[in-house]
Amino acid sequence: MTFSSFSLDTTLLKAIAESAYDEPTEIQKQSIPLILAKHDVMARAQTGTGKTAAFALPILQKLIVKQSGKQELSALVLTPTRELAQQVYKSFCDYGQFTNLNIGIAYGGVSTKKQISELKAGVDVLIATPGRLLDLIRSGHLSLEQINTVVFDEADRMLDMGFKEEIDQIRKYLPIDKQTLLFSATFADEIYNMSKSILVNPKIVEIDEKNKAADDVEQIVYAVDADRKRELTSYLIGSKNWQQVLVFTRTKQCADHLAKEMTKDGVKSLAIHGDKSQGAREKALHEFKEGKIRALIATDVAARGIDIKGLNHVINYELPYNAEDYVHRIGRTARAGNSGLAVSLVSAGEEWLLTAIEELLEISLLQQWLPGYEPDLTKTSQADKKPINKKNARKKAFSSGDKSNQRRPRSKSSRR
Ligand code: AMP
Repeated sequence: MTFSSFSLDTTLLKAIAESAYDEPTEIQKQSIPLILAKHDVMARAQTGTGKTAAFALPILQKLIVKQSGKQELSALVLTPTRELAQQVYKSFCDYGQFTNLNIGIAYGGVSTKKQISELKAGVDVLIATPGRLLDLIRSGHLSLEQINTVVFDEADRMLDMGFKEEIDQIRKYLPIDKQTLLFSATFADEIYNMSKSILVNPKIVEIDEKNKAADDVEQIVYAVDADRKRELTSYLIGSKNWQQVLVFTRTKQCADHLAKEMTKDGVKSLAIHGDKSQGAREKALHEFKEGKIRALIATDVAARGIDIKGLNHVINYELPYNAEDYVHRIGRTARAGNSGLAVSLVSAGEEWLLTAIEELLEISLLQQWLPGYEPDLTKTSQADKKPINKKNARKKAFSSGDKSNQRRPRSKSSRR
């Protein structure tokens, strides 16, 4: 199948050719015809599958066909984070570069001035985060009355981040007659509930991503004491000469601390998380992409939506509490058909989190010991003394030195 089989406008086909996309991805094959046929769509797909083009191309196509000379805001894309908003904005600009359509962006954490003047000048498509969108509507700078397509991108993350109320408010400003598209990495109960109130006779598109991520990314798990993780992280990056590594922590504090310590180890690192100003986040991301820093230390929320072309290495310094976040994390690498490696550092107190990931992905992730970094079975490190969950029953036998439950070093990758 080729992009021309969707009967897209030549301006869009030219932009696709410039992006060097040979053929549509699965989500694009399934969603583009449905969106062009004006159906409401509920799609399960993650970042990395080509989902942005799956909604951006048909939205642009519909606008090109409809173009009446009168400029009005016709399409709205809501995203949970500023980073994702920027990325979606860039995609729309790329795909729409040969059209006369204007794309706008609005997100919080920066002055409204530029965004307001851009809106005044006129935009056809607006990419926005919920809070800033409401501010602009309430201050009279924006009307959603002419919207005919609205996209809820990463809807699951929007709900996770507590945007339900904002979404309900925004819906009051939208016309009743419109096409609604909901993209989400999961179809959890909350998403089904949301879909019932916002979608009309939706077509369902499901891309089975979870096992795809596991297939495309080589996954290695090292068992290591919690208090030696930093040393091991710097060692891996240094000894293997990895130049661009995304490192995940669970908390902002850990991200900040780790970035400082790794820089002292000689691995230039910066942290990116929700407490950093927009400017600082953008600077860190830019320096990372430019290769000025080697490691970007990120929390799950901050990293959501980050698209770094050619990123080959992800380190899970701490496993996430939510197993689905693991899929998002490792999905930062091996994008659009490239190969990738995800290394997870697991201390004794985190084994239950690994079990949850194995259950979700329906795979077995064997733990390895890296020579020189084997867990010390005679002591329980400070972090391991506090089991984070009572499910962690295996830990007891492990840290008490019960040899029957010891993990053995493996020479081969744990990939299955
Ligand atoms: P997304 O899931 O929208 O974040 O896209 C992930 C990456 O895949 C981006 O770098 C896109 O530029 C790229 N991409 C999107 N569609 C295609 C395609 N059909 N062929 C190759 N790469 C694509």
